[in-house]
Amino acid sequence: MEGGESRGSKVVVVGGGVAGALLAKTLQHDADVTLVDPKEYFEIPWAELRSMVEPMFAEKTLIRHTDYLTNAQVITSRATNINETEVLTENGTILPYDYLVIATGHDYAFPRSPEQRLEQFQEDNKKIESSNSILIVGGGPTGVELAGEIATDYPEKKVTLVHRGSRLLEFIGPKASAKALKWLKSKDVEVLLEQAVDLSSLSENNTEFTTSAGKTIIADCHFVCAGKPLGSKWLEETILKESLDQNRRLMVDENLRVKGRKNIFAIGDITDVPELKQGYLAQAHATLVAKNLKALIKGGKESNLAVYKPGSAIAIVSLGRKSAVAQFPFLTMGGRLPGMIKSDDLFVGKTRKVMGV
Ligand SMILES: Cc1cc2nc3c(=O)[nH]c(=O)nc-3n(C[C@H](O)[C@H](O)[C@H](O)COP(=O)(O)OP(=O)(O)OC[C@H]3O[C@@H](n4cnc5c(N)ncnc54)[C@H](O)[C@@H]3O)c2cc1C
Repeated sequence: MEGGESRGSKVVVVGGGVAGALLAKTLQHDADVTLVDPKEYFEIPWAELRSMVEPMFAEKTLIRHTDYLTNAQVITSRATNINETEVLTENGTILPYDYLVIATGHDYAFPRSPEQRLEQFQEDNKKIESSNSILIVGGGPTGVELAGEIATDYPEKKVTLVHRGSRLLEFIGPKASAKALKWLKSKDVEVLLEQAVDLSSLSENNTEFTTSAGKTIIADCHFVCAGKPLGSKWLEETILKESLDQNRRLMVDENLRVKGRKNIFAIGDITDVPELKQGYLAQAHATLVAKNLKALIKGGKESNLAVYKPGSAIAIVSLGRKSAVAQFPFLTMGGRLPGMIKSDDLFVGKTRKVMGV
């Protein structure tokens, strides 16, 4: 795929999340770009939990794809198959490509329109407002951030967080887990570790729950924060099925091309790059691949493609509006200082600026 086409190369980007949306935006004036996403909008994923307690906040976190893609085609559908030259979508569209970028990080049945998504946030908020006691199942970043938001905005409500693992936030180090636990306890959140709640027994009308350790929890409502599944299932019957590793991630080379493929790239959480799965790294993938695609489209040599170096382990988990716990390569911090970096607006202003809106 080297050289030749100076303009009009067809680039199909599958997945309009953090990585895919930025890549499509960055490349739209250099190629004939098509973005495929089942939603009509890009959602800033790390703002989701605040949107549930403050639906007005949610409006800024949803950006229609057509607002930042002024020179690209958007197909609102799910990609279901690919071959060497085309992408097939659920709504029957066949999209020929010269270059393909897979950016389907996590897959989840989000509503199609931003209006429907806002309604969903309002319903979640009503559920929280009308409950005196709330059960959160799952102590990863989603469960911890939701517990932090509810404990901050509704200190009078009883919040119980149940987590199967022996510590919260297992994707980062034990010091960060301990700091998050201490903060939640200081806000009277009851945290039950090494216990599970049978998800199949959960129905909207349930108010009494029994954990695997036999503890009974009374809660007027519950939220399951088990993490969103990886968005690679759809690839299992495609030409890329052999490119998935044992964790169902796409194996990529140093230029972020799917291993063994000249014209198929992968970016974001779907890749097997050995680093924490974080949005700012997904953005770095998008920037590097946009640069590589621009070079290839202009006829540049493959040997000159930019090389991706895995990012260092930085993660910030917000704890309400002012506090957070942050892990840096040689330091873990909790409290106001990391809170000043993330928790005030959850990087919403910065992300909107990156997307040019
Ligand atoms: C609670 C929480 C807090 C976080 N906080 C931060 C933070 O502060 N900073 C940070 O950098 N990162 C943070 N992250 C991590 C960050 O959200 C992810 O790393 C990032 O979303 C990955 O981006 P992505 O584009 O790879 O995948 P995603 O953002 O998951 O996007 C995938 C897209 O692909 C689409 N898709 C899926 N399947 C298909 C298909 N078959 N066809 C078409 N489209 C498809 C989906 O609809 C979606 O739009 C946080 C994560 C969580 C859970």
